[in-house]
Amino acid sequence: MSSKLFIVPTPIGNLEDITLRALRVLKECSFIACEDTRVSVKLLNHFEISKPLISFYSYNQQKRVPEIIDKILNGSDAALISDAGMPAISDPGYMLVRAAIDKGIIVEVLPGASAAITALIGSGLPTDGYIFCGFLKKKSGKMKKELSQAAALGKTIIFYESPRRIIKTAELCREVFGGKTQMCVARELTKKFEEFIRGDIESVIEQLKSKKEILGEMAVLINAASSLLDENEKNKKKNK
Ligand code: SAM
Repeated sequence: MSSKLFIVPTPIGNLEDITLRALRVLKECSFIACEDTRVSVKLLNHFEISKPLISFYSYNQQKRVPEIIDKILNGSDAALISDAGMPAISDPGYMLVRAAIDKGIIVEVLPGASAAITALIGSGLPTDGYIFCGFLKKKSGKMKKELSQAAALGKTIIFYESPRRIIKTAELCREVFGGKTQMCVARELTKKFEEFIRGDIESVIEQLKSKKEILGEMAVLINAASSLLDENEKNKKKNK
């Protein structure tokens, strides 16, 4: 039977959030490609899994992809994991998957934890259509452009942000969408201090500013449909 590339999601905080299948694949594969070996060793030790590890992160992936592909073509099963969550989602993975497909290698993607989808569902914002933007561009002008383009779809927008920049980014969102648009900051998902900061953008900014310190990992969600409703209301008033 030909060897495969397995894409294996790992927990985003709570170690119970790993599937039985993920554990079996990690136990059975020939080697594991992972971002930071120190982070992955902790997870693998926890589940008593011992495997050869190959470091695979954004700055060495170009070099590593052909090495990993060669190993698979020579009969090894490879598993790709990232530090947390779903590989290839704001993490390395895409280049390896593309290369595997191009070489006719079977790619098996295991479903599992990802901060974006977990945040979306807990946000209370519409889930019927959403656009995931990963990490936005850091410069305000470029960030505004990305947000405005995403807003035009009228779906729920999801992006990742750091606690250091969250207030500035939320203020920029207020400029783009208006203060009455619904927003959610989903923080430390699946961890001890999990928190959903919900409300309109104005109130989320207030809640963030009222904190002594903003810590942890976070995903941001905006209901662009509610911002379009705001726009329509404004236009109606203008046209009266
Ligand atoms: N591959 C991961 C996934 O599937 O969600 C995302 C990796 S990306 C490098 C890391 C970012 O995801 C963090 O900076 C944060 O924005 C978001 N994130 C990861 N874990 C999170 C958590 N437990 N709660 C909220 N956001 C999280």
